[in-house]
Amino acid sequence: MIAISAKNLTVSYNRKPAIKGINLNIKSGRVIGIVGPNGAGKSTLMKAMLGLLPVDTGEVKFFDKPIDSCRKKISYIPQREQFDWDFPINVTELVMMGRYAHIARFGFPNNNDKQIVNRALEKVGMYDYRKRQIRFLSGGQQQRIFLARSLAQESEIYFMDEPFVGVDAKTEMAIFELLKELREAGKTILVVHHDLAKVKDYFDNLILINQTLIAYGETNDIFTRENIERAYGGKLTILQKTEELVN
Ligand code: ADP
Ligand code: MG
Repeated sequence: MIAISAKNLTVSYNRKPAIKGINLNIKSGRVIGIVGPNGAGKSTLMKAMLGLLPVDTGEVKFFDKPIDSCRKKISYIPQREQFDWDFPINVTELVMMGRYAHIARFGFPNNNDKQIVNRALEKVGMYDYRKRQIRFLSGGQQQRIFLARSLAQESEIYFMDEPFVGVDAKTEMAIFELLKELREAGKTILVVHHDLAKVKDYFDNLILINQTLIAYGETNDIFTRENIERAYGGKLTILQKTEELVN
């Protein structure tokens, strides 16, 4: 089943294109990496798919419908630094935001919502921190509660922008295990990621992007030296040898 289709997506900032003519059909039940160098338009692509940015051209559908008819089913974890962590709320309150799509307008969380939030906190190992103000959390803990918020929303499609940045190795493993569980449950997970080392382990499918779509498909088919160099150009060799990555 096609979970997301994007047709001819072009987005500009101040008339300068950040992504150009992107076409994608994304199947459900996969973990999909969006990979490319800094400034390649990864976050822009994600926001454009979510309808958070005005597009120059293009159209995005979720399960063949416009996003407005299925927002409840779609959750988004922005890049951690784009969030205001000084906001004076505690962990439970932040995770409860995931339930708002389900709570009637002007309504209040009921016992079911509270149970779902507590279960999500347990799942990410943050239940003991449930009363803590969010500004006192470490980077890894912040990422865990973002994930808990997404889990509490009980969505079908998960968008995550650089969820592994600034988290400890243990949290990275825990997050990845959860992503696999979500996939087993048939969910679709898109992850912006810039560290090429783990790409083969983490992602079933890969979107390689640098303004235009460089390659898209099964990771094993398209994570090749040629494609990586097309996406990263001269930026790669300084940091990593492609030979080591693709072998
Ligand atoms: P990535 O997530 O791959 O690092 P982005 O999607 O954030 O890339 O950015 C793509 C390009 O668009 C970059 O050149 C960036 O500087 C530019 N850009 C991103 N956001 C804005 C913005 N709000 N205003 C102007 N330019 C932007
Ligand atoms: Mg980004």
